[in-house]
Amino acid sequence: MNIAANIGPALALDVADGESIAELRHQADGCTRCDLYRNATQIVFGEGSVKAEIVLVGEQPGDQEDLSGRPFVGPAGRLLDRCLEEAGLDRRRCYVTNAVKHFKFTPRGKRRLHAKPNAGEIRRCAWWLGAELNILQPKLVVTLGASALYALLGPKVKLTPERGRILHPENRPPVLVTIHPSYLLRIRGEADQHRQRRDFVSDLHKAAEYRPQ
Ligand code: SF4
Repeated sequence: MNIAANIGPALALDVADGESIAELRHQADGCTRCDLYRNATQIVFGEGSVKAEIVLVGEQPGDQEDLSGRPFVGPAGRLLDRCLEEAGLDRRRCYVTNAVKHFKFTPRGKRRLHAKPNAGEIRRCAWWLGAELNILQPKLVVTLGASALYALLGPKVKLTPERGRILHPENRPPVLVTIHPSYLLRIRGEADQHRQRRDFVSDLHKAAEYRPQ
């Protein structure tokens, strides 16, 4: 299944037979498909088991990910780890990546504030996401947040109505739609935060239990 050729709004990418994630990461190091490489420290490519059955797709690296070069190592990543554990989803079954591989930010004094990637940046970077999925051929992709969902399925599929559902797009792996863990960190009210976190763990539990028909 050539997922890259079918992925949401992305361009097709020919991935040679036998090409590995390590080779792909090496190629992506020199990517200039959009301007985000200019100000970021380094590319943050996906990581995890190359035999992963489940691929988790976030939005983009944050400040700590940009500095360390690894995805989901900041506050949202630590929260994701805890929720995965509660959901009974073994990280060894997973590969974790982002829709956009370079950190986008707005400088504010000494701080770098997260800035949302735009549709063009997501479309350009979906080239790499498609290539990762093409190599991994996972049984399930979990989209964490709207940017990942857009990268996979384009602008017509919206997060809120599809949240918690497993979609079965043609010619690509099933997609479980859920929120990004950073959303949980932004919720002010304790009751709402608790409810949203419980629902997030429940979504991840569906991924843990998922068996292709
Ligand atoms: S964000 Fe993606 S498309 Fe843009 S330069 Fe980085 S790797 Fe390339």
